[in-house]
Amino acid sequence: MTHLMNTYGRQPVAFTHGKGVRLYDTQGREYLDAMAGVAVNTLGHGHPDLVQAIARQAAELIHCSNLYRVMAQEDLSDRLAALSGMDEVFFCNSGCEANEAAIKLARLYGHQRGVELPGIIVMEHAFHGRTLATLSATGNRKVQAGFEPLTPGFYRVPFSDIEAVRAIAEHNRNVVAVLFEPVQGEGGIHPATQDYMRELRALCDQHQWLFMVDEVQCGIARTGSWFAFQQSGVVPDVMTLAKGLGSGVPIGACLARGPAAGVFKPGTHGSTFGGNPLACTAASTTLAVVERDGLMENALRQGDAIRAGFRTELADVAGVVDIRGVGLMIGIELDRPCGALVATALDAGLLINVTSDTTIRLVPSLVYSDADSAELVKRLSPLIRNFLAGAQLAA
Ligand SMILES: *Cc1c(COP(=O)(O)O)cnc(C)c1O
Repeated sequence: MTHLMNTYGRQPVAFTHGKGVRLYDTQGREYLDAMAGVAVNTLGHGHPDLVQAIARQAAELIHCSNLYRVMAQEDLSDRLAALSGMDEVFFCNSGCEANEAAIKLARLYGHQRGVELPGIIVMEHAFHGRTLATLSATGNRKVQAGFEPLTPGFYRVPFSDIEAVRAIAEHNRNVVAVLFEPVQGEGGIHPATQDYMRELRALCDQHQWLFMVDEVQCGIARTGSWFAFQQSGVVPDVMTLAKGLGSGVPIGACLARGPAAGVFKPGTHGSTFGGNPLACTAASTTLAVVERDGLMENALRQGDAIRAGFRTELADVAGVVDIRGVGLMIGIELDRPCGALVATALDAGLLINVTSDTTIRLVPSLVYSDADSAELVKRLSPLIRNFLAGAQLAA
C-alpha cells in the first residue's frame, strides 16, 4: 500500500539509477531504455555535462521568482528564438501549461481583434495535456470522459484533412487559431504531411488565424531538425515545447512570433516556478550538448536505422500494419491491441510503450549509438513476432 493517488497503471519495477540509454532497477537488472521517460531524457541518463551544470546552478541559485530578471531565462530565450525564428518566449513547467499559455494567447489575440467568443481549431487524435482547457483540446474521449463540462471554444477536424478546416472557416467567423501536433505522438506517431502544413499555413494567413504547433513531444531535435515544423518550410506563429527541453528537469515554453508576439502584457499570464535558473540551465545545457555532439543528425540516423531494421526483421510477419515515424519518433502499428507487450518487453529488459491501443511507440534518447539501435531491433523484433503468433515468450 502507498498513499499515492491512483492515476497511473504502473509496471512493477523501480529504477535506482541510469547511465546513457540503460536503466538499473532495485534488483540490479539492466534495461535498454527506448522510452526516455516518454520523450523527455534527450541526453539519456546521467549525462555528465547536464549533471555538472545542474549541480553548479543548484549551488548558485535554484529559484528567485519572475519578479526579477533571470539571466539564465534571458539566455535561453535568446537561444530558442535563434533556433526557431520565433520572437519571444514564455516559460512554464510542463507541456499542458505551455498549451494553456498558447490557448490563452489565442483567445486574447482574438479579443484584441474584436472577436467576442474566439474559437480554436484542433484535431482528432490530438493530445495537448490533462488540464481542463488542454483535455478539451485533446481529441481522445478517454482523456475527457468524466470531466465535463469541457472548456468551450474548440472546433475539431480530422487530422490531415484540409477541406475540413476550410469548411469550418466558411461557417465560423470567430475562429482565431489552429492548434496541432506536426507529429501526433499519443495519437499513434502520425506525421502531418508537408503539403498539409503548407496549406494550413496558407489558410491561417488568409483568415488571420494563428498557426500554433504543439511540439511538446516532437520538438528539440527528436525528428532530425530542431523543431518538426522546420521540415515543412513554414513558420508557426506560436509553438509549445516541454518534454525533451530540459532532459528531465521540468520546463515548458510557449513561443510567439509576428502577430502573436506582444499579445501578453504584465498581469495577463504568469507562473511562479516557470523559467527558474535551475530549469533554464538544464535546458540551455541540453541544447548546447545536442548541438555540440550532433544529436540532431544522430536522431535522424538512428531513427532511420531502427525503422529499416524493423522493416527487415518484421517483413514477413502477418499482423504488422505499419512501421512509421520521423527521426526518433517511431511507431509500429499492429492489427490488434498490444498493451500486453509492454510487460513482456520489461521482463526481457526493454522499456517500450504502447499508445493508441495498437501502436508500439519508441521515443528513445538522442544519444543512441548504432549498436544501441541494432540491439533494440534485434531484441524487440522476436517479442513482436511471438506476440503476433499468440505464443507466450519463453525467456
Ligand atoms: C506530453 C504532451 C503534452 C502534455 O505535457 P505534460 O508535460 O504532460 O503536461 C502536450 N502535448 C503533447 C504533444 C504531448 O506529447
